[in-house]
Amino acid sequence: KITVVGSINMDLVTLTDKLPEMGETITGKQFKMNPGGKGANQAVAAARLGAQVKIIGCVGRDSFGENLLQHLQSEGIDVSNVEPVTDSTGTALITVYNNDNNIIVVPGANNHVTASFVETKRDIIADSDILILQLEIPLEGVQKAVEVAKENNVTVILNPAPITELPAGLIEQIDYLTPNEHEHSLLIKGMNEQQIKEKVIVTKGSRGVSLYKGDEEITIPSFRVNAIDTTGAGDSFNGGLAVALGRGLSLPDACKFGNAAAALSTLKLGAQTGMPGKEEVETMIKI
Ligand code: ADP
Repeated sequence: KITVVGSINMDLVTLTDKLPEMGETITGKQFKMNPGGKGANQAVAAARLGAQVKIIGCVGRDSFGENLLQHLQSEGIDVSNVEPVTDSTGTALITVYNNDNNIIVVPGANNHVTASFVETKRDIIADSDILILQLEIPLEGVQKAVEVAKENNVTVILNPAPITELPAGLIEQIDYLTPNEHEHSLLIKGMNEQQIKEKVIVTKGSRGVSLYKGDEEITIPSFRVNAIDTTGAGDSFNGGLAVALGRGLSLPDACKFGNAAAALSTLKLGAQTGMPGKEEVETMIKI
């Protein structure tokens, strides 16, 4: 049983040949709405891999909120702990230009996932095997969720994205931290050597992940694929890692499982579109 406490967003993606100047209006080439938010992405990744997944979060009382709840439900995720609030559903306004992008994220309803909100969901967290968190909700909400999890021996995975300074007490309570390389360099400033060796799994894109086995740093290589879109690869890794740990795999094997899920997810455009099922991942691991 996996519980995700995190963000639920609608990604509004515009493809354009040029960027407008301030005050200018231009015509874009293409527009697409994709369900997103790191919380929702990681919930979908875990659900597709066969886990029983609940998501705790907030959406606005608007059409994006309704649409996203329906979508998560269609992925088999329990959304009965996503509450509607009087704010806009989280959005990411993404402009894709010249094979790169710029993004404005408006957290909106995600800002309502506060400590007092999470407290009302105490029983759901306590009843989980694994709790997955990211940093697209208020830090106090993350802290409360971790506190409840630790009181109940729930394994906690924190994907520290987007990176911010974390209180020492919080780091102490987390079982696994999964930064990418950029996040890693900032994260470890607040950690001692023992904590780094025990808790940190660094995702390194096409090179896979690295972690410590005792005092020795080891690499779990990625699977070779012709990546088309790596958006959400980190989210797939986290979902896969959680599912594999939940099944009792060793940490290196769980990372291998996460790497396979993440590699497969890069084969299609969009964060969630390419996220694989359990059979696809198992086939990839056997090759
Ligand atoms: P993020 O997407 O959060 O920035 P990374 O870029 O480190 O994180 O990617 C997360 C994981 O996704 C990697 O550890 C790896 O398992 C997988 N991955 C990412 N890019 C590729 C790629 N080009 N080929 C295969 N696997 C990849």
